[in-house]
Amino acid sequence: MKNLKLIILIFSISISCSQENLSDKYAESITSNELSDLLYEFASDKFEGRETGEPGQKLAVNFIRDFYKSNEIDKADKTEDYFQKLLVDVPGKMVTFPYSFPDSVRGFMMNEKEVNWIETENVAAIIKGSVHPDEYIIISAHLDHVGKRGDDIYNGADDDGSGSMALLELAQAFKLAESEGNGPKRSIVFLHVTGEEKGLLGSEYYTMDPLYSLEKTITNLNVDMIGRTDPNRGSDNDRYIYLIGSDRLSSKLHETSEEVNNRTINLELDYTFNELDDPNNFYERSDHFNFAKNNIPVIFYFSGTHEDYHGTGDTPDKIRYDLLTERTKLIFYTAWEIANMDKKIEVDKE
Ligand SMILES: [Zn+2]
Repeated sequence: MKNLKLIILIFSISISCSQENLSDKYAESITSNELSDLLYEFASDKFEGRETGEPGQKLAVNFIRDFYKSNEIDKADKTEDYFQKLLVDVPGKMVTFPYSFPDSVRGFMMNEKEVNWIETENVAAIIKGSVHPDEYIIISAHLDHVGKRGDDIYNGADDDGSGSMALLELAQAFKLAESEGNGPKRSIVFLHVTGEEKGLLGSEYYTMDPLYSLEKTITNLNVDMIGRTDPNRGSDNDRYIYLIGSDRLSSKLHETSEEVNNRTINLELDYTFNELDDPNNFYERSDHFNFAKNNIPVIFYFSGTHEDYHGTGDTPDKIRYDLLTERTKLIFYTAWEIANMDKKIEVDKE
């Protein structure tokens, strides 16, 4: 009996070790060099600040699509070759369905007011789950930024070039795992939303016209600005990340996030901005909020604002690639766990 217990113990330790080693192997494919190469391109002047509907934003969506194609990562269902098209009216902060307007999309009258619909697009790719393909984890980042003013280009390297390129590296890591027979048990959707800077429009549209059932979407991990440090944080430890929202809808999500971090990357998880009375109210200020409104548990990953926030100084040379890499790995390990855990994340809070 004693021996049997010992054998069971050794057996279960070896199973959990091999699972960990497995995720370590793929996490190692997320490198500072690759993130840097991608971000220097994505946040270059050529993309003209990626303003929603402008030529630079079209270059950005093509760049993202080309990455998924060249890595043989599938387009999400119901997209047109990775694109989910939508119309936005920027001053009115409205979104609508492109297929409602088969002819001209401009100058449409609404409530006797002229509305200038701009066509833009979310980009979405998927790695299908091997065991529960109809349960979805959405990892999101916004692809747009604030554009240019005259000759001044707002490159948005941190906001949100950092999150956008993190998604590409995450997708590549999961694809590598899949190609070696170790793909995620649940499906992972990589969702690059547009129009965030105009009022979270791309994510709002996604939740109006989801590519995958919102009821079957078990978690949203949203990544918006993870490449720098917050000068006002008042700590010498740069190895941190602000987490927002993890405990709001699901205690299991919060526990899992903490447990994974302790076991793997071990960053300082800073909940300053998660306080319900925090005056910044970041919980409602990025794309995860549209998912949270639909009762989907979220974690918002964020390293804070800085002097170049929405300024011309948000350039790729100022990114801390060592920190960007570690934070991306933390998101990888967390997504790996949520995708592979036996019992799925459930909502247990109001
Ligand atoms: Zn942002």
